[in-house]
Order: sequence, then structure tokens, then C-alpha cells
Amino acid sequence: MKVSVISPEIYTYGAMLIGGILRDSGHEVKIANNFAGDTEDIVLISLYSTQHLLSPEIREFIRNKRSQGGTVVIGGPVSAYPEMVIGELEPDFVVIGEGEETVPELFSTGFSKDIAGIAFMDDSGIVVRPKRGQASVDRGLPLIPDDISAQSIRGASAYIETHRGCTGACTFCQVPRFFGRNIRSRNLDDILAEVREFKRMGATRLSVSGGTGSLYMADDGKFNEDAFVGLLKEMAAIMGPNNISSPDIRVDCISERVLDAIRDYSIGWVFFGIESGSDRILRDMGKGATVQAASDAVFACRDHGLKVAGSFIVGHPKETEEDFELTRDFITGHSLDDAFVSVAEPIPMTPLADLVLKTPRSENPVYTPHNGEYKSLKLTEAEARSFDLQMHADMFKPGLHVVTDEVFNAYLAGVRKDGEEVRAATELLFRYYGHE
Ligand code: SF4
Repeated sequence: MKVSVISPEIYTYGAMLIGGILRDSGHEVKIANNFAGDTEDIVLISLYSTQHLLSPEIREFIRNKRSQGGTVVIGGPVSAYPEMVIGELEPDFVVIGEGEETVPELFSTGFSKDIAGIAFMDDSGIVVRPKRGQASVDRGLPLIPDDISAQSIRGASAYIETHRGCTGACTFCQVPRFFGRNIRSRNLDDILAEVREFKRMGATRLSVSGGTGSLYMADDGKFNEDAFVGLLKEMAAIMGPNNISSPDIRVDCISERVLDAIRDYSIGWVFFGIESGSDRILRDMGKGATVQAASDAVFACRDHGLKVAGSFIVGHPKETEEDFELTRDFITGHSLDDAFVSVAEPIPMTPLADLVLKTPRSENPVYTPHNGEYKSLKLTEAEARSFDLQMHADMFKPGLHVVTDEVFNAYLAGVRKDGEEVRAATELLFRYYGHE
């Protein structure tokens, strides 16, 4: 079959992976990161954000393709909530969860509706077939597009998968729900073959994929620092240390050797999901780490000559003004090299989504108007907290930083967009799963 695999905006690793599997199953596969070019009649779309379900462009593309007799299959992280995907975008099929086995079977059976791991709409309504177990992480090379060198995701051409799953259970995160809390690591030789292929195709920098990089080979539940150090060292030998990053790490998954390896075999940045400066909120988020642990981790990185970025979430339904001030104190007290602040987005099927559904809009900071210092900017409480944190993070970065009008306006536009998107995702959640 001739198939187009599309992931909007960026070539996701998942799209490249499924493209490679289809290619190795004998199909002729094109890969794209937009809906503008010529596509085949059979299209597999990999979607990774709830926002994609609200995209008029994607909806229109699917409607046109199907009206012309084409077949559209949707996979990716949004497949965790197939009813919502079918209700909003009306594809022919949703491939639920990990698609490595389901996608080739769906294609080889000529789109049979009797296989496990799919959902579709028929005359009786939405049909969801039984889910499959976890897929094998052994596979061939991904389908890497010719213009991969032009892609930059936080500076990397691609985030490659070294293992699946996360031992954490953060209530806002989809990773442990989608991939499980057990770790399944890929064979080092397969990873290195993939790194060589990315380099051959023009990738300039590769990053170890999200979750927690240092959990590589912790398949038996035990932290395996030898494996992680070896992974980075071998990847750096191929790409050069300045072209490898391993940014995402839990604050409780570091050690002296792990930090030394990050310094010696990568660009020397660590990215911690710190989320909040309030232990009460961290407990509510199921973070499994304390503010003290986050603080110790930041200083440990500094001791090893590493730069540290942190991500923070504001507008959790239980976050009080006092909790927020503790987060601001953390930011001003640690002079992070970079900080990313986002408004808490309730990803469907996560515990945070359940909490948001139980929280009246009048008590949810994502909706309530801000009446404090930034009142004249007409922001919601969550937007105002995000704006305030970003300004403080900038002012307290090492070195001199001046918040110009341009920076001010960029932050303001960013928090408004973030707030709008989170409210749109929340309304979608209420529509499908809410009882208000
Ligand atoms: S540690 Fe990171 S990947 Fe793991 S559950 Fe928490 S946020 Fe998700």
C-alpha cells in the first residue's frame, strides 16, 4: 500500500518509528510534518496533544480525505481517549496505545474491524476493541525524513527513545499511563544503529527522549548508572558530545556518576520537572519528590559544572496563593539557567483530569479572574501566576537580564494563549467525561 504518515508541526519520534515499521512491512511510506503537501489515499496521523483534537485544519483534512474515498487512521498519545478522538475528528480508525503490532496488522488485513487495539465508529456507535499488552521495544530503523536537519525541538533534531515507561506517577502526566510504570529498555546496539542513521540523514543534535533518561536499563526496578553512562558515552562517540543532550531527569534519579556523564558526554544541561515549590502541591501532584530534593539536585548539578533548567506548573486546582509564593521563592532562590512555566493542563484519563472534573469552574484558577498585582492585564489567576513566574525566572537568571517591552509582551501573549488552550482542553473534557 502507499501510505502517508503525518505528525503536525514536528516529525515526532513516534511517527518516524511507525513509518519505519510500515516500510519494513512492505508498504511505500511518505512522511510529513504538515497537511499541505500531496498525500496518499491512506493516511496515518500521529497526534500528541489534546489541542490537535480542536484543530480545524486537521478536522478539515480528515473530512476531505474521507470524502474522496481515502482512509484515515489516527495514533499517538491522544489514542488513550479514543472516544474523544472519534467524536472530534471522525477518522476511520484510532489505533489505541502502542501501535507497533496493531498498525501493521490493521494494514495487512485490509483494515479489518475485528482486530485488537483499535476503535472506530459504526452504525451502533463508537466501538472500542480490547486493548493489546505492551509492545516489544525491538524493531528496525525509523523512517527519517530528508529534512530532519531543519528540525529543532529544544535544540535537538529528534528525541530518540532509549526506553519506555516511567517509575513515577505524576498525576498530570500521561507517560506512566500510556507506557506503564515498568521500564522497558532497548538494546544498546539498536539504539546506536539508530543514532548512526540519524547522523547519516543529517541530524545535528539528538536528545534522549522524555521521561527520565537515567532510568535506561532500570528494567528490574533498579537504577543502572553503568548503563546510562555507557549509553551517553557511546552516543557521544558517534555524534560528538556537543551534539547529544539528555535533559529530562527526575530530581531523585541522579548520582555523582550520572551528573559527571552528562557533563562529559553531552551539552551539559539538565532539565528537571520541579513543578512547584510547595510540598503540599507536590504531594497532590503525586510527584514523589520534595522541594528539598529538588533544591539539592539543582545545587548538585552546579557542583558538577552543569546548567540547570526547571519546569513549573501553575494553576493546579488545589494551588493556593501561599503555594504559588513558595514556587516563586524557589525560582528566585535558585537562579535557574532557564525555566519553563505552564498552566496545569488536564490530559484526559489522568488523575489531574479527574480532579479538574470535580472542581467547579468558579474554584479553578484556570477560570477565576486575577484581582491582584496584574489586574489591569485582565488575566485569569493561573495566567497571572504563570506570567509572574516567567518574569521572576528571567530576572533571577545568572547574568544581567532586562525585561524589555518586547519580552514583557511576548510573555503576556504566551500566558494568554496557554490559558486559552488549557480552558479549551478542559471544556472538551467536560463535554466527554464531565457531569456538571
Ligand atoms: S517523572 Fe516525568 S515522565 Fe515520569 S510520571 Fe513524572 S512527569 Fe511523567
